[in-house]
Amino acid sequence: MRKLVSIVIPAYNEADNIRNIFTNIHSVFSTLPYNWEVIFVDDGSKDETLVTVKELANKYNNAYFLEFSKNFGHQLAVKAGLDNAYGDCVISLDCDAQHPPEIIPEMLQKWEEGFDIVYTIREEDKRLSKAKRSSSNLFYKLVNSLSDIELEAGTADFRLMDRKVVNVFRNFHETEPFLRGLTKWLGFKQYGIRYEPAERFAGTSKYSFKKMVRLALHGVTSFSIKPLYTAVYVGLIMSLLSLLYIPYVVYAFYNHIEVSGWASIIITIVFFGGLQLIMLGIIGIYVGKMFMQTKNRPNYIIRSTNLKDQS
Ligand code: UDP
Ligand code: MG
Repeated sequence: MRKLVSIVIPAYNEADNIRNIFTNIHSVFSTLPYNWEVIFVDDGSKDETLVTVKELANKYNNAYFLEFSKNFGHQLAVKAGLDNAYGDCVISLDCDAQHPPEIIPEMLQKWEEGFDIVYTIREEDKRLSKAKRSSSNLFYKLVNSLSDIELEAGTADFRLMDRKVVNVFRNFHETEPFLRGLTKWLGFKQYGIRYEPAERFAGTSKYSFKKMVRLALHGVTSFSIKPLYTAVYVGLIMSLLSLLYIPYVVYAFYNHIEVSGWASIIITIVFFGGLQLIMLGIIGIYVGKMFMQTKNRPNYIIRSTNLKDQS
């Protein structure tokens, strides 16, 4: 019997991309000896995304949709797809054709060779704006230096996972999963494929600067408590440095020039005030995460779907 490949596509306001990506995948699989299905996860879109997906689902019996009750974000959309896909392997990719389906055959080949996770590494895209490129590089540097996992720059949420990996993922109930890090952390036999990103087919990027900063902070705080240690180290260094100030204070006192210290006092207060706020913020993120996690809410809510098996 042919193996089943499930493809999970998160979509947030991507009405103009749906048909295109489905057609692309269709043509890739026309020459491959696999059964395949596509699961679109509509992440609370406000445009015609769901209507378009439903049209596809009426026409093709291997097109499925999961409709979220509101926007839960890209990572949870992928997670929901994984939770509901029953293929022998599951591939996740973006809706906008920036993750070229053309490399799917190569991914499947590596899977057949025995790799459990085939992830992809994006070659630097010369067309992207300098700001996006350097913020992306900074993102990986930050995650790597502040956490205990090692991500290659350009690792995207474009990957193939074997059934057994997907099953492990089902037991993860993190309120805001950071999938790139989690997959790396899982272990298993992994293989990385490099690819040239394509241009976005239609629409604009749904990752605003705010969402990117959020993802970066999540990437770091989901994987280690190193930043909390940093707080202690920075605090220690600063206290030691401030000791150096004592001889000056004594000198100033004996020479009656102590009033002139006003500027340095203000600078110190502002500097330490800022530092404390940053560190409090970091601690706050961790406390917040614990708070969210202890409430044990479902991570996402499905409003409707045409998938039969929902257990
Ligand atoms: N996406 C989503 N929910 C969101 C934001 C994005 O499901 O809140 C989807 C989006 O539709 C796309 C993928 O995540 O399929 C990646 O988003 P995008 O292409 O905008 O990110 P970029 O490639 O610019 O980093
Ligand atoms: Mg994109």
